[in-house]
Amino acid sequence: MSSSKRIYELQQVDLSIQAKSKELEGINLRINHDEAYELAKANHDTARDAQKEREKQYKDLDAEAEGVRAALQQINDKLYGGKIKNPKELVGYEQEAGMFKGNLSGKDDVLLELMEKIDAAKTEIKKLQEIYKTAETDWQSRKVTLTGQADQLKEELAGLEKKRQEILAAVDKETLTAYENIKSRKGQAVVRVEQGRCLGCRVSLSISELQRVKGISIVTCSNCGRMLYLS
Ligand SMILES: [Zn+2]
Repeated sequence: MSSSKRIYELQQVDLSIQAKSKELEGINLRINHDEAYELAKANHDTARDAQKEREKQYKDLDAEAEGVRAALQQINDKLYGGKIKNPKELVGYEQEAGMFKGNLSGKDDVLLELMEKIDAAKTEIKKLQEIYKTAETDWQSRKVTLTGQADQLKEELAGLEKKRQEILAAVDKETLTAYENIKSRKGQAVVRVEQGRCLGCRVSLSISELQRVKGISIVTCSNCGRMLYLS
């Protein structure tokens, strides 16, 4: 086998390794992350956190209302206990009781409103939970397929790596270094020659270049510097 054919084959293997590695990376990403699930979960968690906040508000306000109720009870005890005889004092207590009642009624209204919101949110959260659980199940079943695909790719990559080592064993160090250098500069190190032209830069080769390409040693394009391969 000519050196140029060998290095061309190395490039084909490298390109396959590159493509399959990228594919594997994409699959691994889909195994570890699922946008539909993550979005559904975030929606559920946001609703659940808002509900927790509502429940805390309810609890705090309920405790406040309880305090007002107890204070009102004390005033009522004084008002109707028969111990206070002074009319001015009684009027004062009546006014205070009226204030507390108003305050309590306001709090009760808010509590009722909060309770309605909490009940409605419960249904909503349950729905959102079902949605994210379904998304999770879908993702899990997709994972099975994806893991199979990943295993297949890993196997293919191992095969390609083996083939690469076999080719490398037959490529001299100098050629390999040149290949790596051109690859890092140009992206593609080896290009085919077709109808007398370098397919890397589309420039026609001279007669002598064409003659040399037909030989066993590696020839680079005098225009673009890539290694030439004549199939
Ligand atoms: Zn060229």
